[in-house]
Amino acid sequence: ATMPPLLSAIANAGRHGALVKSAVVMERLGEVDAVALDKTGTLTEGTPRVTDVRPLPGSGLDEAGLLTIAAAAEHPSEHPLARAVVEAAREQGLALPVAEDFDSTPGVGVTATVGGHAVAVGAPARLLTGSGDAGSAGAADQAAELEDGGRTAVLVAVDGTPVGVLGIADRLRPDATATVASLTSLTGTAPLLLTGDNPRAAARLAAEVGIEDVRAGLLPHHKVSAVRELERSGRKVMVVGDGVNDAPALAAAHTGVAMGRAGSDLALETADTVVVRDELATVPAVISLSRRARGLVV
Ligand code: ADP
Ligand code: MG
Repeated sequence: ATMPPLLSAIANAGRHGALVKSAVVMERLGEVDAVALDKTGTLTEGTPRVTDVRPLPGSGLDEAGLLTIAAAAEHPSEHPLARAVVEAAREQGLALPVAEDFDSTPGVGVTATVGGHAVAVGAPARLLTGSGDAGSAGAADQAAELEDGGRTAVLVAVDGTPVGVLGIADRLRPDATATVASLTSLTGTAPLLLTGDNPRAAARLAAEVGIEDVRAGLLPHHKVSAVRELERSGRKVMVVGDGVNDAPALAAAHTGVAMGRAGSDLALETADTVVVRDELATVPAVISLSRRARGLVV
């Protein structure tokens, strides 16, 4: 017997490095006419590195002390930024105290008790709300300077007081710009960027790959709203993401695609398609395969 076109397409997608979870999904991929891309781990490689360690004056911490506290709190997290912080501490041979009461908030950061102190590590814009003291102002300045340089700034606070800022940088995927161009010609519109990261770093990266529509500083439910808004205007939206913070948007979209290598378990489970081979170009490839299987011109 000859295989039905959608099943052959699934086999073909597998050869391209994509796990398409069902025939219905294979069909939907070709219906997509708008694509929303996540930034960290999707347009970027997802293996960010710590580039700056800046204890605040008056914190009583040196660089090693700041990195130790941050890495201890981040140790249980699977977020790419957390792994960067832990890796930086490991490279410097720092011994990490054990963190207790770990908790994480997608799109915000983590909290934990380290050596009896409440430590928070995360987005400066989220952690610095409201407090107008000198320490917070100093931290905000440091964060803004790092973000202007295209870094993701991460604030470290101990018992509610900012003690330092880390700068983290990630490389653009080598096929990011070409993929944005293919998706633009396949769907007739440029993809949009949905990110929890800061607007400065987001705008810089978007300009580099040719994306104009940038929504930054988003919490997971904001990503969902952006998808719903597009769907209400009649679009069939594909969301491509990797994080726990992307899961609600992956579920809300017409079809969700997760980047597999650095992807969180939740994203891989929620997505309809998993990119197993770590190439962004697989995304336009599966759209084309679906259209061909459905007998549409590519
Ligand atoms: P993106 O949408 O670009 O993948 P996320 O929503 O995962 O980004 O994260 C958004 C922001 O939240 C990050 O830029 C960072 O400032 C903060 N953040 C989230 N999780 C962590 C963490 N584990 N450690 C430090 N910062 C974090
Ligand atoms: Mg991400």
